[in-house]
Amino acid sequence: MQLFPLFTDLRGRTALVIGAGLVADRKIHLLLSAGARVVVGAHAAHPQVQARAQAGEVELCLAPFDPAWLDEAWLVIAATNDRALNRRIADAAAARRLFCNVVDDAELSSAQVPAIVDRAPITIAISSSGSAPVIARRLRERIESLFDPALGALASLAQRKRAAIRQARPDLRTRRDFYDWLLDGPVLSALRRSRADEAEAALDQALSQNTQAPAGKVLLVGAGPGDPGLLTLRGLRALNEADVILADRLVSPEVLALARRDAQVIDVGKTLGGPHETTQARIHALMVSHARQGRCVVRLKGGDPMVFGRGGEELQHLKRHGIAYEVVPGITAALACGAYAGIPLTHRDHAQSLTLATAHRRAGAGGGTVDDRPGNGQTRVYYMGVNRLPTLREQLLADGLTPTTPCAIVENGSRVNQRVLHGTLASMEALAHAHAIQSPALVLVGAVTALGMELGWFGQSLHAQKTCRPRENMQQAIA
Ligand code: SAH
Repeated sequence: MQLFPLFTDLRGRTALVIGAGLVADRKIHLLLSAGARVVVGAHAAHPQVQARAQAGEVELCLAPFDPAWLDEAWLVIAATNDRALNRRIADAAAARRLFCNVVDDAELSSAQVPAIVDRAPITIAISSSGSAPVIARRLRERIESLFDPALGALASLAQRKRAAIRQARPDLRTRRDFYDWLLDGPVLSALRRSRADEAEAALDQALSQNTQAPAGKVLLVGAGPGDPGLLTLRGLRALNEADVILADRLVSPEVLALARRDAQVIDVGKTLGGPHETTQARIHALMVSHARQGRCVVRLKGGDPMVFGRGGEELQHLKRHGIAYEVVPGITAALACGAYAGIPLTHRDHAQSLTLATAHRRAGAGGGTVDDRPGNGQTRVYYMGVNRLPTLREQLLADGLTPTTPCAIVENGSRVNQRVLHGTLASMEALAHAHAIQSPALVLVGAVTALGMELGWFGQSLHAQKTCRPRENMQQAIA
């Protein structure tokens, strides 16, 4: 180990910062958040530091460096842009056996400030011992995305209940189990749902009854349209937490690859097979049985789980069976395909409303209450529509749209094999046929779709039988 990691308690203790530029100000901010008394010495100060002095946050001494400044300090930070001066400061600190950090200068520093992930009271500090701060920073970003913000609240709660936990679980082993349960179970889940009272009640109840309710739960997660970059951070955390993943056919392999290595992945789109209703019933049964065994079940769906994803029915089933759940939204196909095909769904010159519809109607379902009458200012997006283009066209023509209304079909939106077809209501079906368009594909109808021919920036764009690649892509291909 090149450096000894150490967390210091600076509350009420003097930290001396020498230099008063923006770099110094970042360190001052950090020291203040740790409760230090900050003294700043410099020959001149940035207005931001001056403002802190005026507000009484720091004591500012505008004068040439004087080693006597170090007399009161517990810690010294040199943040001047004069290396010779930084060296004198480091030497003066060493003479007093004081630790000194020289910003961005590992050689002169006897102490280094790590990259940190702050989930107060939990702090994760990362150091590369000065060898590659960029790597430490990258690690910090990764870790930042992995840990839920609610972790801080959980640690604060545990801190408050520490004595009670110790009393109720005097044995170290059962105490550890209890903390595991805290991290995995209903307490953290309640905090994530912004229900602090519920969290505390669950903790108190577990302590008083001497048993922990099983930690099992279901996270209904939207995987987005395919590009793993479009998964949310919360979705990524869920994939890291999962014991079991029930994945849909639409979930891309790239997204699944982000899941915890030892999670059990069940491809419910494929393995279950059979008629839709049977498949759905089996998914319901799998969610309940795994959660009842105390597992964290991630029900992973393409796009958003509540948009044409039967997420609602699954929640109703979980509610009926008393299983705890959370929902993590995802980027739905309409938004992703709009973005990735350069189609501004509600460009204000062309559209004032956006309808997300399915070309499938549930047997027995009524016409619905959506106002489907044609208006020029309307963008319509149809899910599950590629196999129903003739019906869709007839319906829209009957509704009064003209055959020349611009349309687009986006196949595999946001994925590397994305194709976008541009045409009109009259030509779409023949075009889709000519290019052998397949599911998953989205049908977009309305004036805004034509803008995609100009604004498209991703994947292949096809119209009127000829293939064209947007210029940017050509340039990328050449580069
Ligand atoms: N919950 C999903 C939709 C499920 S319905 C969501 O929010 O996106 C399935 C339909 O979604 C497909 O038939 C197709 O019309 C559309 N779809 C899903 N992913 C798509 C993608 N990457 N590109 C184009 N269409 C997609």
